[in-house]
Amino acid sequence: MAWPCVKGTIILKAKNPSEEDCALAYAAEILRNGGLVAFPTETVYGLGANALNLQAVKEIYRVKKRPPDNPLIVHITGIEQARDLVCSIPREAVLLAEKFWPGPLTLVLAKKKHVPDIITAGLSSVAVRVPAHPLALKLMAKAGIPLAAPSANLSGHPSPTTAGHVLDDMAGSIDAVLDGGSCSIGVESTVLSFLSDPPALLRPGGITLEMLQDVLQSKVMDFARRQQSKDFKGTPSSPGMKYRHYAPQTPLYLVEGEGADQRRKLADLNKKLAQEGYKVGLILFEESRDFYAAPVIKVLSSKKDPCLAAERLFAVLRSKDFLDVDVIIAEGLEEKEIGHAVMNRLRKAATKIIVP
Ligand code: AMP
Ligand code: MG
Repeated sequence: MAWPCVKGTIILKAKNPSEEDCALAYAAEILRNGGLVAFPTETVYGLGANALNLQAVKEIYRVKKRPPDNPLIVHITGIEQARDLVCSIPREAVLLAEKFWPGPLTLVLAKKKHVPDIITAGLSSVAVRVPAHPLALKLMAKAGIPLAAPSANLSGHPSPTTAGHVLDDMAGSIDAVLDGGSCSIGVESTVLSFLSDPPALLRPGGITLEMLQDVLQSKVMDFARRQQSKDFKGTPSSPGMKYRHYAPQTPLYLVEGEGADQRRKLADLNKKLAQEGYKVGLILFEESRDFYAAPVIKVLSSKKDPCLAAERLFAVLRSKDFLDVDVIIAEGLEEKEIGHAVMNRLRKAATKIIVP
């Protein structure tokens, strides 16, 4: 079968079941031979490689330009495969896995010796998750190997939620991308560490703090929020948390807070920057759309629909319309449910945060 290519990267797009079988078989063969294949998950596109092949995993770091101290998540097909990689799974982690796998929850657990140091950046723990996307599950079943798969973007760029985004960053440096359309959740998985008691939320995502606490009936430490506060001076518990992420190519100001105060701050900033001669782009919620004027305005969603805001966030940050603005101002959202993950990503994308 002749697949289309961009700069040598094959695009495996399945339009019918027999094409899907061919695409999956081809992708699985590339992975088993130590190559790199980007594939869709329900969160964002992952850049997959055989997690037990050192050379293949090294390639992930090289093509992403990922700092070597930022460990990778290992994608698996179920809790049984997790047992091959981790020393033990605490009862509470089993409860969560039973409830949320396959799904956007990554568990950090003490690793077995044979898990390569390059995956874990030398840590004694490994992060594992079962993705919920049918193509990801079929690909892993066909390849028969656990897949190390960070987001398929260049380090520091917004994560990709379409195959087109993957090609924008990775065409010519990876073997193939399996095109499964747009990702439904749109922000990366929740990362929860069981190295502490109670467990610690290292990154908010599609499985919210509220959902975790509901199952565990106990406290979860919110390290992600704590480590983003401007007073935090300690060492991040997850190496990835110390890097600026999701940065669009344009400087981004985030205006936090709510109601009239937030609106006034955003309006003042927009006016000031425009008066200084900057071309401003705005990222807003529907409720505020009519309060501002600017050369480029992108509306994420209604404030009442944070799931849609999450789904659209990275595509908006990557929007080509923002390429010729001088500065972006983004409106913050209430930090509850998946709004927590949206705010976490916006803070990491921001060059400057304006707090209430
Ligand atoms: P990404 O690959 O872009 O989805 O990012 C994976 C996230 O998981 C990063 O923030 C990593 O720092 C984090 N992570 C992966 N493995 C571990 C681990 N063993 N301990 C703590 N955080 C981890
Ligand atoms: Mg990433």
